[in-house]
Amino acid sequence: MNQLISRVFARKSAGVATPRPSGASVTAFPFFAHPVPDGAADPATIVLNGTCPVCGQQARFDRFTDNLRESGFCSGCGSFNRQRQMAHVLRARIGGPAGAPLAIPPGLAVYNTESTGAVHRVLSTNPGYVCSEYFGAEYRSGETVRGCRHEDLQNMSFADQSLDIVLSSDVLEHMPDPYRAHREIFRVLRRGGRHIFTVPFDSAAPLDDRRADLVNGEVVYLAEKLYHGDPVNPEAGILVWTIFGLEMLVELARIGFAPTAVNLLLPWHGVIGAHSLVFEAVRP
Ligand SMILES: [Zn+2]
Repeated sequence: MNQLISRVFARKSAGVATPRPSGASVTAFPFFAHPVPDGAADPATIVLNGTCPVCGQQARFDRFTDNLRESGFCSGCGSFNRQRQMAHVLRARIGGPAGAPLAIPPGLAVYNTESTGAVHRVLSTNPGYVCSEYFGAEYRSGETVRGCRHEDLQNMSFADQSLDIVLSSDVLEHMPDPYRAHREIFRVLRRGGRHIFTVPFDSAAPLDDRRADLVNGEVVYLAEKLYHGDPVNPEAGILVWTIFGLEMLVELARIGFAPTAVNLLLPWHGVIGAHSLVFEAVRP
């Protein structure tokens, strides 16, 4: 398996310059587990100080919980750990002054697959920014629903090669066919464009954990039902179809992407945890 991965990476990465963002430790598998921070036995006692990659402010990061990835809120913008991980990698790609909020350079088309959260809030007024939500199978991609663009990532309304950056933060696990979505993202990205994303990822698993499947329009559960919080539908939550493993990187390479992963540890940016994985899929 590791030999296969090496060959895939060697072939797909050739000619695509993707420098590693600062603080990124490895691209090897299995991913190195960072040491737990001081005070991790009681995460509520962890207080970090530094610069927030989302809002750019000198900030305090506190109110961590056992779920380090989804907690540790910025005193400036309210961002939590996972959002800062995305923002750090996005900053490495689009630049901008460290002390200012994330901003999209003129001429760049950035599509965020969510319309809430700290990253959305700082980018929402930028020219070149577009966002969406998924409201249900009864809507067509590109339609406006409740004042927001609806997109099914598995069948998007964007034109071929029309976007420079696609952002998705824990989105791809919530659809029956995530690789159809990845193929769609490949289609809409310009050459040299990239999908920067996070997903639930088992850092030791060679294969994806498929938890549900769609058979003749019916959901078939292959494992215990698992739901995540959903800002669009807070009472019901949203089903987790897949927890990804190394297989994801192989599938991305098969689609034609040059896939990379970074494992961040940046306490001075409020990013801690054994694994803080951000993935990038570049369209060569
Ligand atoms: Zn902030």
